[in-house]
This record gives sequence, structure tokens and C-alpha cells, in this order.
Amino acid sequence: MSDKYVVIGNPIAHSKSPAIHSQFAAQTRQRLEYQTLLAPTDGFELSVHNFIVAGGKGANVTVPFKEQAFTLCTELSDDARLAGAVNTLSFLPDGQIRGDNTDGQGLVADLLSHTSLNHKVVLLIGAGGAARGAILPLLRSGVKQLIISNRTFEKAQMLAKQFKDYGNITAVPMAELEFGFDIIINSTSASLAGDLPGVPVHIFSPDTLCYDMMYGAELTAFNAWAKSHGVVNCIDGLGMLVGQAAISFEIWRGVKPDVDIVLSQLRQALEAK
Ligand code: NDP
Repeated sequence: MSDKYVVIGNPIAHSKSPAIHSQFAAQTRQRLEYQTLLAPTDGFELSVHNFIVAGGKGANVTVPFKEQAFTLCTELSDDARLAGAVNTLSFLPDGQIRGDNTDGQGLVADLLSHTSLNHKVVLLIGAGGAARGAILPLLRSGVKQLIISNRTFEKAQMLAKQFKDYGNITAVPMAELEFGFDIIINSTSASLAGDLPGVPVHIFSPDTLCYDMMYGAELTAFNAWAKSHGVVNCIDGLGMLVGQAAISFEIWRGVKPDVDIVLSQLRQALEAK
């Protein structure tokens, strides 16, 4: 019998995770089934419980359940504990539920496939769940300074305070951002509506690397805007998606899948639509 995994969310039909994990399983010759699981918005815990009873070995968790998944865990990785959110559940043989957050590590792995992070000055725009998960992996990756900025400035300040013991992190209001970032990461959900996060244009230079966590067939609104202000290197979040999935897969199965093949296939499929 194959081991069973799911991605739980609401909505979930659009998820690329089953395709990604099936490809990882084929690559690494692992026998597993990976499906979507739609949980009612008030029924996350019951859905997880039923899946465990049915023999489930692990689950990815997506919007809107990452915080609820966090509260369900009996063991947490440092990334998950500090992010306050879990995207990877492992149902252990002794009944414990272990929670990890691989989103930030997926982001860093994708960034590292394009550039070194060592001694870089990085701007992280946004202070929601995705930003929270990204901070510790970014600080661990050797960046010189992490500036965090957010529309609601108090949230950026709170995160800078929470992570101050883990590296050089400072909160700066959007209007006060200056020139001089090596890397600018947009972790706001503004792009989902085709909007821009409200940062000044003078933060861009031709040498800046811009990363939008959102992805799509077209350039995201943020990356298109950065390009129109001279930025050459703009990357979207598809690599982060595949990267976080690869780390979940490794946690569950103990083998590292090849990210590049899956990423290029997904990119082709996205662009063919
Ligand atoms: P949250 O809802 O937790 O946070 C949203 C953030 O965006 C907040 O900081 C919010 O600011 C800010 N924001 C929203 N609209 C605007 C706007 N118009 N102008 C300025 N700021 C705005 O979302 P998540 O953190 O979970 O997700 C953020 C993005 O990251 C989404 O696009 C999501 O798709 C993407 N993502 C991608 C992943 C991947 O694998 N590629 C994984 C996870 C997320 P405020 O605090 O002021 O409300």
C-alpha cells in the first residue's frame, strides 16, 4: 500500500502540490499517493483527524489554515514556532503531530539558485504570514541586513522586535525607504489584485534583484513595475512553491528531490495556458 499525503486548504482545487509531489515521488521512486483535501472553513481539525484515522502520513497546509495547523502540533520546528504557522504536518507513529514551516526555506533555496545572500542588504515588503515565515531563513542565510517594511507599519515593527535576537533586522516605514538594496522581496498580497505595495520607486537600481512571492504566466504587477524602473533581474514565486514542496518531501521521505526539472515543467505548463 502507498503512503498517503494531502494538501489541505479552502479553496484547494487550484493547488499545484499534487502534481509537484507526484513528480518528486516518480523521480525518487517513492510509493505514495498525494491528493487535495478540501476542509470546511470551520472543520480543519476534524479533517486532519479523519485523515490520520484513514492512515495519512503527512499533510501540507495552505490558506486559510496555517495558523490552525500550528495550534494542532505537539512538536514544532524553530521555523514553524517563530513563524506561528505550519505548512507541513507529519503524523508520527507514536501519535505526535510535528509541524514545520518550509515556505521561507523554499524562498531562500530559490534565491540561492539565482544569487548569493552573503553580506546582502535585503528589503522584505509585507508582514503577513509569508513574511513571518521568511525572516528566520533569510537571517540564517548570511544577509548583512534585513529591512522589513509594511503598509501597516506596526506589524513590521512587531516582527523586527520578535526576530531581533536572530540577526540584523530593522523596520522602516515605506515612505522612508531609501536607495541601496541588493535584493527586494515583495511578500504582500497586493499583486494578487494587480496592485503595487506602495514603496517609493527610488529603491530600485539596475543591479537590484526583485523577487515577488506571487507567480503567474505573466510578469507580476510588482515585477513589471520594477522592470519599468530599470531592474533587470525579476523573479516570481514559482521556485519558492517548488522549493517549499521539496523540503516537505524530504522531511517526510528522507530523500531530496530534484527541484529544477519540476520547476521547468511547471513553468512550461503555466506559460502554455
Ligand atoms: P497575508 O494576508 O498574511 O499578508 C498580506 C500582506 O500583504 C500584509 O503585509 C498586508 O499589509 C500586505 N498587503 C495586502 N494588500 C496590500 C496593498 N494593496 N498594499 C500594500 N500592502 C498590502 O498573506 P501571506 O503573507 O500569506 O501571502 C502574501 C503573498 O505571498 C501572496 O501573494 C501569496 O500568494 C504569496 N505566497 C507565495 C508562496 C509561494 O510558495 N510562492 C507561499 C506563501 C505565500 P497589511 O499588514 O497592511 O494588511
